[in-house]
Amino acid sequence: MTRTILGLLAAVALAATPATAQTYPSRPIVMIVPFAAGGPTDVIARIVGEHMSRTLGQQIVVENVAGAGGTTGITRGAQATPDGYTIMMGHMGTHGAAPALYPRLRYDPTKDFAPIGLAAGTPILIVARKNFPPKTLQEFVAYVKANAAKINQAHAGVGSVSHTTCTMLDHQLAIKPTQVAYRGTGPALNDLVGGQVDFMCDQIVNLVEQVKAGAIKAYAIATPVRSPALPDLPTTTEAGLPDYQVSAWNAVFAPKGTPGEIVAKLNDALSKALSDAATRKRLLDLGGVIPEGKERTPEYLGDFVKSEVARWTPILKAAGAVAN
Ligand code: ASP
Repeated sequence: MTRTILGLLAAVALAATPATAQTYPSRPIVMIVPFAAGGPTDVIARIVGEHMSRTLGQQIVVENVAGAGGTTGITRGAQATPDGYTIMMGHMGTHGAAPALYPRLRYDPTKDFAPIGLAAGTPILIVARKNFPPKTLQEFVAYVKANAAKINQAHAGVGSVSHTTCTMLDHQLAIKPTQVAYRGTGPALNDLVGGQVDFMCDQIVNLVEQVKAGAIKAYAIATPVRSPALPDLPTTTEAGLPDYQVSAWNAVFAPKGTPGEIVAKLNDALSKALSDAATRKRLLDLGGVIPEGKERTPEYLGDFVKSEVARWTPILKAAGAVAN
């Protein structure tokens, strides 16, 4: 008798699960990266995507849809069919800062997504072209204050991580350098290496290799502790700018309405990627901070996005980037 009831309940539960969710994924999955190839969002997407593909048994294909500080690609992702075949790699800019900077933003980071999970924390570094005159962070501060009018600062578009975090820095230093927008900090970094721009603030995963190779200069990491990926690089506190503290993150989202079973499969694949030794090494070598335990759940990411939107609006208002 009990058996029959249990069997019946199981059949009902199965019937409630749409067929698409049961067989998911049966074809490749597109992961929208809202910036140019080669930058940190793209690199993180490709690293975790590769392992997720293996778990899911289907290829995750990265599609770079750049523009408007990442909001173009995320708008497209938010409007995609919520069937698990279009997901996206968002970040602190697209899902934290953008609402404060784009009054007509066509998505609400807190409402229009099914959060999948955090992919990596990414501390911010202040970096410059290798022949930029200042040698230390204190020299950098004095130099940019004295020469702000002729200095170029690269970023990945209004609302991007590089834009918002350097806007914070500019405000603290009371400088207004010329800002040069790129479609991602991959191309911005190329120009920094080439000496076409002077400095930028960016996510560590984009910078470690070029800093180690001496192709660019790094002044400090804006976190309370040094990164094991660049142990010689001082923190902003050690280097004399303790008020400049900022760290970013990247995370995977699906459009709102994606079935719970599919969200669970994607979250499981992401978590397996973050537990895989080779994937961890690739992220850690680039200075990424790997989410652990409950930080990997969709619920955590949903709450985190809410707190990030609430955190960034007053910061950007105070920095004069948003009308009060
Ligand atoms: N790091 C970039 C930003 O500034 C974007 C990118 O991943 O290329 O938002």
